[in-house]
Amino acid sequence: MSRQALDELKQQIPLLDYLQAHDWQAARHLSGGRLMGLCPLHSDHKPSFLVDPSKSLFYCYGCGRGGDVIRFAELYHQVKFPQALALLHQWRGLAQLLHEAAAFYRVQLHRHGEAVAYLRQRGVHSPELIEHMQIGYAPGGCLRSWLTRLGYPLQALRQAGLVTAAGYDAFIHRIVFPLEGNLYGRSISTSAPSHRFLPGAKGGLYLWQQVRHCPEVILVEGLFDYAVLRQAGFHNVTCSMGNHLNAHQYGQLCDGPRTIYLALDADANGSGQQATQSLACRLTEQGMNVRRVSLPDGHDPNSFFVEDGDARQFQLLLEAAQ
Ligand SMILES: [Zn+2]
Repeated sequence: MSRQALDELKQQIPLLDYLQAHDWQAARHLSGGRLMGLCPLHSDHKPSFLVDPSKSLFYCYGCGRGGDVIRFAELYHQVKFPQALALLHQWRGLAQLLHEAAAFYRVQLHRHGEAVAYLRQRGVHSPELIEHMQIGYAPGGCLRSWLTRLGYPLQALRQAGLVTAAGYDAFIHRIVFPLEGNLYGRSISTSAPSHRFLPGAKGGLYLWQQVRHCPEVILVEGLFDYAVLRQAGFHNVTCSMGNHLNAHQYGQLCDGPRTIYLALDADANGSGQQATQSLACRLTEQGMNVRRVSLPDGHDPNSFFVEDGDARQFQLLLEAAQ
């Protein structure tokens, strides 16, 4: 790879973007726009990792390592230079592709009455919320042609899971929510499986950066639960996309002292209660202050609000949480 191609790659992947996508956050802001935070390369207890976003360079006062985004990828993924380059290329390509697909789906939302009707039926109507969550709609049968017209090779679309092996759009008649490195599609028809992700990890907790500083956080399992709570004015909500938390999500929830309100589904068969119970135990063991929100039988936060629940009533449930 030429010097020029390397510079281009580095320009296209700002170090700070890459760090944040790998869950790094600044603990302190220093002069000249520089940032200081915990080092992702060694077990760090007080911030010793310095980042200069304007130069896209890092240096750790703890482990003494530093460099550019390529050096960081080598150290973080523990690979050699050529593999680090390959990982960065792949990361850049997928990030751009998912961004492009999500933007296309957002435009489709307002062109399809059935999608807007479905959102209303699930209690979602605020344009600010739709904008905040970047909600889109996959009608099916048009993403592939749009992206190939933009120059993306069919093979890349298949690899990302946006297009099936047979060459069709993977998401059909689905409300689409962009996640960190993935997309979630909720079917609006009853004949298809309700929930679908692209292949790969579902990522961390939903928009965790925006709530991690709140002393009290409400955890829900569905994005429509998140949507109605946020719309009702609860801004300290996050979502695990399912009642099983992956290790990344669990680590985020425990990354500092806080009170966690668990508002998972109250399924008729009791599986939701079991999930809540075991999660509550694990979090309590980690020293978290955990409260379980009791929703009326058979309800999740979404159906609670859809069936005339309001912010005041939900606030009472939070106050009554054990
Ligand atoms: Zn370090």
